[in-house]
Amino acid sequence: MDNCIFCKIGAREVSSYKVYEDEEIFAFKDVNPQAPVHVVIIPKKHMGGLNDISDKDEKMLGHIQVAASKIANYFPEMKNGFRIVNNCGIDGGQTVLHMHYHLLGGRSFNWPPG
Ligand code: 5GP
Ligand code: ZN
Repeated sequence: MDNCIFCKIGAREVSSYKVYEDEEIFAFKDVNPQAPVHVVIIPKKHMGGLNDISDKDEKMLGHIQVAASKIANYFPEMKNGFRIVNNCGIDGGQTVLHMHYHLLGGRSFNWPPG
């Protein structure tokens, strides 16, 4: 999709600190980290948000979760746990309208979230 920063990062048209990549997904360090380790995981294919998916996306969404677990295992900072966040839509706090998951670790998190 034109003018989507995450499409451009996934296509390597915009540089990022890559953490993981395969045919379907791309993971990179967040430019404004909210934890000692803050990775953003995206599908390379554009989709607006978790409110913009259908049954055909089930496999890819599962794939992201498995990749998140593998990435977390790679970082010693996340050996005691981590958090996965999906901000969806305006009320969910989504600012980039290309569906993505945040993988955060290296500190303890509060609940409920803000
Ligand atoms: P959201 O608020 O949509 O859930 O998350 C968007 C995230 O993308 C934010 O944490 C923001 O810091 C990150 N972000 C936005 N633009 C860029 C960028 O150009 N490069 C990187 N690495 N992260 C970005
Ligand atoms: Zn996009």
